[in-house]
Amino acid sequence: MFENLTERLEKALSGFKDRGKLSAEDIKKGLREIRLALLEADVNYKVVKDFLQRVENRALSSEVLESLTPFQQMVKIVYDELVETLGGKASGLNLTGKPSVILLAGLQGSGKTTTAAKLAKYLKKKGHNPLLCSTDIYRPAAIDQLRILSEKIELPFVSATPQEKALEIAERALKIAKDSGRDVLIVDTAGRLHIDEALMEELKAIKDFLKPQEVLLVADAMMGQDAVNVAQTFQERVGLTGIILTKVEGDARGGAAFSIKEVTGCPIKFLGIGEKLDALEVFHPERLASRILGMGDILTLVEKAQEAFDIKKARELEKKLKKLQFDLEDLREQLQQMKKLGSIKDILSFLPGLGKKIDNLPINEKEIHKMEAIINSMTPQERRNPHIINASRKRRIAKGSGTTVQDVNKLLKSFEEMKTLMKQFKSPGKMHGFLRRFM
Ligand code: GDP
Repeated sequence: MFENLTERLEKALSGFKDRGKLSAEDIKKGLREIRLALLEADVNYKVVKDFLQRVENRALSSEVLESLTPFQQMVKIVYDELVETLGGKASGLNLTGKPSVILLAGLQGSGKTTTAAKLAKYLKKKGHNPLLCSTDIYRPAAIDQLRILSEKIELPFVSATPQEKALEIAERALKIAKDSGRDVLIVDTAGRLHIDEALMEELKAIKDFLKPQEVLLVADAMMGQDAVNVAQTFQERVGLTGIILTKVEGDARGGAAFSIKEVTGCPIKFLGIGEKLDALEVFHPERLASRILGMGDILTLVEKAQEAFDIKKARELEKKLKKLQFDLEDLREQLQQMKKLGSIKDILSFLPGLGKKIDNLPINEKEIHKMEAIINSMTPQERRNPHIINASRKRRIAKGSGTTVQDVNKLLKSFEEMKTLMKQFKSPGKMHGFLRRFM
């Protein structure tokens, strides 16, 4: 996410390092570098201009903190203004309706349908009971897609009949939501390849009827300034309450994320960061600013860990570890919990100072998959008592997992080493603190 921008900004800011005092000339030179970094990231030129003006004003003003070096001061000013440009404070969803209606709009392919399901799943996790519906009568496949996704997340979906008009589906869905006591109605609307008159008219009619609490534009971050232009048109023609930027995980430049709030006046509310249904993050300007400046985002990582790890299971594991009863069944459980957090590279990307360097780390995700495959090929009895795994069992396990006997031996040896290491953790206080960090 935004690797190129991070790298360029870090470089631009490093020019301020090792300076005793900054002259107006130094500041101007540094700002030129930052300007280039932002323009290369495809940030809207007017947003760049305003941003730099604010940074310059503050850098040249008497706002000098004795405790900070010139470099730290510049980083602080750039960080503060970045947060401001990204929208200041996180703006949550308005869910004050009965039911609250969330209308999703956007171009075809932006990720609208997937996002409708992601949002429903997110709200369900938060204790809401959403109802889903799609008014994309022009693409029956899109309606079907959302029905299948709704089934996957075990939430009800209002099916459309072939004769129904988009507005009629919306009317019926609202009635069903009210009658069945659903507190949120999520309405996916038709997307076109390009903005057209008919699309806007239909969307406006649905909006006027439903009077939604939220009208969210789903926009593809990879489209850069085109996404910003689309957002501006929807804002002018229909009126939006917020934006969900999708495919952000593949966007190295960050131009849309950086510009969209300033240009449209609409806050970004969520980021789509993958194809899976839980790949949706609440948008926090401070956290993103921190990531963009290579300072990491520990808070989001901790939240992800809290969601992914089953606290009850973690406590059971803690008990086993204390009694040194850790077996391969537990190791498999740990590997699965880790995987829920994402790839190891994903996890590391939240830590400060790594940025693009992650690509150079000798991390082998394949080895982890291999370990899991080997453990999966064992019988439960073998997982609990690895010492019974003799030569013929090893051959069977290797065959079953598509690996070699050497691989099985390697895993068993690593497991033994792990257990030895755990004995050193046996002091309960130490272990407790260690696990607590993840809860
Ligand atoms: P719609 O035409 O706007 O309804 O778009 P879809 O929901 O069908 O999504 C289009 C494609 O984008 C699908 O392949 C989705 O899996 C993918 N997609 C949606 N959101 C994201 C995201 O945040 N990251 C990535 N990588 N892909 C996404």
